[in-house]
Amino acid sequence: MTTLDQFATDKLARLEAGALRRRLRPTARAAGAMLERDGQRLISFSCNDYLNLSTHPAVIDAAIDAARRHGAGAGASRLVTGDHPLYRALEARLAALKQTEDAVVFGSGFLANTGIIPALMTRDDAIFVDELAHACIWAGARLSGAALHIFRHNDLVHLAELLAAHRPAARHAMVATDGVFSMDGDLAPVGQMLALANAHDAWLMTDDAHGIGVINQGRGSAHGHSVPLQMGTLSKAVGSYGGYLCASHVVCELIRNRARSFVYTTGLPPAVVGASIAALDLIAADPALCAAALAHASRFCAALGLAPAESPIVPLLLGTAERALAAQTVLEAAGYLVAAIRPPTVPEGTARLRFAFTAGHLPEDVDRLAQLVRTKIMGSA
Ligand SMILES: *Cc1c(COP(=O)(O)O)cnc(C)c1O
Repeated sequence: MTTLDQFATDKLARLEAGALRRRLRPTARAAGAMLERDGQRLISFSCNDYLNLSTHPAVIDAAIDAARRHGAGAGASRLVTGDHPLYRALEARLAALKQTEDAVVFGSGFLANTGIIPALMTRDDAIFVDELAHACIWAGARLSGAALHIFRHNDLVHLAELLAAHRPAARHAMVATDGVFSMDGDLAPVGQMLALANAHDAWLMTDDAHGIGVINQGRGSAHGHSVPLQMGTLSKAVGSYGGYLCASHVVCELIRNRARSFVYTTGLPPAVVGASIAALDLIAADPALCAAALAHASRFCAALGLAPAESPIVPLLLGTAERALAAQTVLEAAGYLVAAIRPPTVPEGTARLRFAFTAGHLPEDVDRLAQLVRTKIMGSA
């Protein structure tokens, strides 16, 4: 065996021993929240497609139409010849939904964060990050070379202490947080955090990957607050693919010039952009659709006596990776797909089931799932 293959074999064996090895499983998704895996039909409570728009006929038609008119691929970076006309239409819709001057679209949410943060922050600067922020915020923050200060989850007192201690030595400062926390489902205190950041001349960036389409009539967790940097993804409730930044016109212009994950990568395929435009039109037109996913999460939490849901994401902490995997298996045998989330996605000792509710779930499915969780999982604690 080569040393490379030996290295990979050893690493995988260690993951396996800790119940941390992950495997891809072919999964066919269908309308609503249905999917098929290993010949079994399952109701998914694990998709981030909160409004089921990825399988909405109007969204699919828009993708097909865009591909017919503009081709299957963008052909180049947007700054060369890849800026097909659908892009500006998409950015105009995002700016309108978020009520910002402008918006800029990236290849994905991950690419957005690894582009935006290093384009704004350098070695002389300081970034203050919530300890539970998404992996791509960390990736962008580390790439930037700025000093990193980690505040306890949603802890404004700790953030204030860190800002007081470290802001003065930095040239520029950024506070970065998820707006809706992807593995916990709780919201950042955006209004208070913005006031605190402003008081220290720090730029607040909220990552609303799980907020757009589902919080505040679909406008997201920063709605009503003048957050200067509002990023997010088109890959979750919007049902398509891509990332975005909503900000002032001049900031978006700088990003179009300096974000390396914007400049040095090919534009999104027209079909993807066409789908996002159709999905955003549905979101803007239908506040009841946007509210449905959170309503199901609330129903589930009430049935189990859990803390009230703040978003469509509900975690059930189980501790060890083994316990979380066993719980997933129990629910899967009953026809429900609820993914076990293990380290390093979540901190050690906090492996969990992560329930993601979507508009297309039926109240009776939610109730039956709650009943199963109460008897088969919480009861066996
Ligand atoms: C999923 C996610 C991203 C990445 O978005 P993609 O478009 O899937 O790359 C970024 N931030 C958070 C908080 C996320 O949950």
